[in-house]
Amino acid sequence: MLNRDLLYKITENMGVKITDDAFKRFDTYAELLFETNKQFNLTAITEPDDMTVKHFADCLSVFKYADFKEGARLIDVGTGAGFPGLVILLARPDLDVTFLDGTGKKLAFIESVLSEVGLNGHILHRRAEEAGNDPLYREKFDFATARAVASLPVLCEYCIPFIKNGGSFISMKSAFSDDEISSSSGALRTLGGKIESDNVFDLVENTKRRIIIIKKISQTPPKYPRPSAKISKNPLG
Ligand code: SAM
Repeated sequence: MLNRDLLYKITENMGVKITDDAFKRFDTYAELLFETNKQFNLTAITEPDDMTVKHFADCLSVFKYADFKEGARLIDVGTGAGFPGLVILLARPDLDVTFLDGTGKKLAFIESVLSEVGLNGHILHRRAEEAGNDPLYREKFDFATARAVASLPVLCEYCIPFIKNGGSFISMKSAFSDDEISSSSGALRTLGGKIESDNVFDLVENTKRRIIIIKKISQTPPKYPRPSAKISKNPLG
């Protein structure tokens, strides 16, 4: 299903190593995604080379910029069909990954992949802004990730409350997100985050991507995250 040579070529260029076992797990995941997508819509990307580049290589690029210590706890916010969280877990089964989404059907798909490859993960069927106020999840994670979920100021309010002091929020964005970044400075200050690195890179020729690493430098005040209506009506500036 996946284009193995293409994936190895791109990840090698990024300096990201993948094992053959990990590749087998990615391929099983891609196959299940392709099949399940015939019954309900999980992704618009179904052509094998596109899937290889736009889903798998793209998600693996986080390993270029983030250092995940063995056993680190990660929450993937708005994971959908598992991007990037499931790719990260399949590459690094030692990590403790929580998959959060407001849509149960997508999470059921992730469960089916986990069971097929024989790995464990935590499924969390909640809205981010609710789970972020739950003591079970608040400030409990070393990392939060998000790809294609919301604008950066909104994402900061969704994701930063989950992270422990000293942990990081990894935001996967298009290269053209300068406006979002500049409009996030107030949100970062309010929520206790600071941009540690802002990395624009060529995933493949003519496809620029961006990974912003936000470090948690102080506790998030208890009034955040606010209820969703307030976040969308009045995003933190
Ligand atoms: N991250 C995946 C990817 O890159 O393919 C999915 C992206 S999809 C466009 C956005 C996902 O975020 C959807 O599955 C949606 O249900 C979820 N989502 C959006 N806002 C959310 C929120 N406040 N809480 C939980 N899930 C949310």
